[in-house]
Amino acid sequence: MKPLIILGNWKANKSTEEALAWVEDFVKNWSSGGALEIILAPSFIHISFLARFIREKGLALKLSAQNVSQFNKGAYTGEVAAEMLRGLVEYSLIGHSERRKNFGETDEILAQKVRQALANGINPVYCISESQMSIPEGVKIVAYEPLFAIGSGRPDTPENADSVAAEIKKKGDFKVLYGGSINAENVYSFVSQPHIDGVLVGGASLSSQEFLSITNHVA
Ligand code: PEP
Repeated sequence: MKPLIILGNWKANKSTEEALAWVEDFVKNWSSGGALEIILAPSFIHISFLARFIREKGLALKLSAQNVSQFNKGAYTGEVAAEMLRGLVEYSLIGHSERRKNFGETDEILAQKVRQALANGINPVYCISESQMSIPEGVKIVAYEPLFAIGSGRPDTPENADSVAAEIKKKGDFKVLYGGSINAENVYSFVSQPHIDGVLVGGASLSSQEFLSITNHVA
């Protein structure tokens, strides 16, 4: 059985209290580790306390950043350098379509971000919306997220997502996640496709109960 990845992206949501309540509820109700790798991508402000919480409780939950700076640490006000995240997260999303669109992140900037992540022991989860888009060197996990499907309630078909995943895999030895309007009802139809190694979940990761329901459907 292939190990499946379920990555929840909270985007710019949740107060500290809400973040804590989410993990407390999740760990109380999640029992199976199995062949599932569960990753949470909270906002930067939650990462260090969640990393401590996970370590202290010995939880089978991993952390991802939603972004890293393209710059080294130093005089870059407002940025979070990959070096600052070293040891706190195993992964970082890079190139999410919301960042490409709202923050003008170009292929060149994204390649710099990938280099920063890799230099600091962080695995990039590199987001693309079409199979032809370029993927920087060193990336091992790609998330295919068609623009029409993100936050719309209209996912791609599992068959089309699988054929895009197969196309991406022709370009390199990648794991490929599908993202876009995943929920508990449709998740199994995606993860059961032969070329899909997991899912990236946005809106449906905000409720611990809904996210649990997704992990339970996959488990
Ligand atoms: C995302 O933003 O990466 C995403 C997949 O969002 P949603 O699940 O809400 O479509």
